[in-house]
Amino acid sequence: MYNRRKSRVVKIGEVAIGGEHPITIESMTNTKTADVEGTVAQIKALAAEGCEIVRVTVNTPDAAEGFAALRRKIGNIPLVADIHFDYKMAIAAIEAGADNIRINPGNIGSADRVRAIADAAGRRSISIRVGVNSGSLEQDLIDAHSGVTGRGLAESALRNVRLLEQFDFDNIIVSMKASNIPMTLEAHEIFAPQMDYPLHIGITEAGTLYSGTIKSTAGISSLLTRGLGDTVRISLTADPIEEVRAAKEMLQALRLRTFGPEIISCPTCGRTEVDLIPIANEVRQRIRHIASPISVAIMGCVVNGPGEAKECDIGIAAGKGAGILFKKGEIVRKISEVEMADVLVCEIEKIVESGNML
Ligand code: SF4
Repeated sequence: MYNRRKSRVVKIGEVAIGGEHPITIESMTNTKTADVEGTVAQIKALAAEGCEIVRVTVNTPDAAEGFAALRRKIGNIPLVADIHFDYKMAIAAIEAGADNIRINPGNIGSADRVRAIADAAGRRSISIRVGVNSGSLEQDLIDAHSGVTGRGLAESALRNVRLLEQFDFDNIIVSMKASNIPMTLEAHEIFAPQMDYPLHIGITEAGTLYSGTIKSTAGISSLLTRGLGDTVRISLTADPIEEVRAAKEMLQALRLRTFGPEIISCPTCGRTEVDLIPIANEVRQRIRHIASPISVAIMGCVVNGPGEAKECDIGIAAGKGAGILFKKGEIVRKISEVEMADVLVCEIEKIVESGNML
């Protein structure tokens, strides 16, 4: 569908990133890592929501201790240790069982420190993500390009990957993040033809729930439709569970993954003669637990309603205070406005139980 870039396969725990493998969803805890119980609870909640790789900051000796403890408590959920500034935290996290270490080359320090991290990761055969960020680009690259640029981000990633390669380490994932979408695109377009390491993609510091979701999906989708990206993180100033929900919706909308029902509902307009918005919202809420790829149309009138409803597993095309129920392209019966949500949910559950989706 999209002409996906051919990347090599790198693993984080049991999850394979790159190649033909599905594009995975990552998020990051926002608890204090030293708070083991709180962090374990959040990791488990993220995994239950569909997060496939969880990142945790390891920024202090207390956090490193917490990391070791929570590693033992979360089973085999793939766990990434996020490291800035202190390479000793990376070594501690590797020894505590991290499945991947994310280092920010702009703030990790000398080549010797990077070598120490690479050697430790090599001993445990775990991967490293070279995570370049526009907020912490190396000064010489800022000077060389008269500011922070996409080219500078790409050059930082190339330079730091080559450094790891010099240490005979090539179990690498790369990310180049900015809060600026054109800059992010430029960085990836420069980097991608030069190396085949898998790409973790995202728009950093994208903002609050609503605007950040839109900005993230605009940027990440632009990359994915160019075939760039093997694992994603939507970054929101919000509960990290929302990042996972947004990533699932985005990947499903792009038809790259399937996580559950797809609802096709119209925006309503002056023609609508039922109160459609609460009906659509109620159905969405009541089928949130369903993981099967059923298609549902909730349409306000006969202009596009029958056409959309016929293409779905189940659907309604509403009229004045009532609607026509369609199932697998056929008209079933007329239903009143008040019963629409209940009938749709009931029919959805029956179809899911039968396993007979279009
Ligand atoms: Fe309006 Fe009908 Fe289109 Fe809904 S389907 S937006 S009610 S014209």
